[in-house]
Amino acid sequence: MKIDVLSLFPEMFTGVLESSILKKASEQKAVSYHVTNFREYADNKHKTVDDYPYGGGAGMVLKPQPIFDAVEALTKEKKPRVILLCPQGEVYSQSKAEELAKEDHLLFICGHYEGYDERIREHLVTDEISIGDYVLTGGELAAMVIIDSVVRLLPGVLGNEQSPIEDSFSKCGLLEHPHYTRPADFRGMKVPEVLTSGHHEKIEEWREKESLLRTYQRRPELLERASLTEKQKKWLEELKKQ
Ligand code: SAM
Repeated sequence: MKIDVLSLFPEMFTGVLESSILKKASEQKAVSYHVTNFREYADNKHKTVDDYPYGGGAGMVLKPQPIFDAVEALTKEKKPRVILLCPQGEVYSQSKAEELAKEDHLLFICGHYEGYDERIREHLVTDEISIGDYVLTGGELAAMVIIDSVVRLLPGVLGNEQSPIEDSFSKCGLLEHPHYTRPADFRGMKVPEVLTSGHHEKIEEWREKESLLRTYQRRPELLERASLTEKQKKWLEELKKQ
């Protein structure tokens, strides 16, 4: 996968793209990152990328020219998914991460200031994504959140192929079960006995039930769209009665 990012603050990406799994993924050549300062594409003497809003009002608006020119220069051959980070966009989810992980080229546009000239939104982008109902200073952190969640899904990036499948929101759309590690008794706080029993079937059943319980208690709305087996539906009914 190729990932392009247009940002006025490319230095923000250095630590994130050069650490941990995201770094490993690029070393493995599963992904390549290209962060471009779209100020380079501004066609005026002072390299200005923003201007006052028509009609007046607070804040500056990102001009269309530098962003249109940057996108066109970086996508000459095939048009990629062009993602505008924006608090008014579709709220990001694991299913969107799975969808984006199937693409071979993503381009993120990170906004700043008051926002973008509307023509960018209308004529240049394929997706508008928000990472939640709150307002950030700029789109960089949002782009990094999306890049992280997509790259970890690329084949071979996580050592254990199972792990992204087992994660919350992935397996039938539920939250994941709780985890424990050694010691079995930490300051009197004990690990559930079943986990140290060595009985794989019982462990699997405990995990499935805990996953259902956790989802029911914390995010009951997820159960409405979860694809539950008949067995899980029965357990859920029992849970509700309790
Ligand atoms: N005036 C805009 C509004 O009310 O919708 C907010 C602009 S915000 C200060 C500046 C930039 O930060 C946005 O253009 C966008 O790129 C980014 N941003 C802010 N909140 C975001 C969110 N929840 N998800 C994704 N990007 C966000």
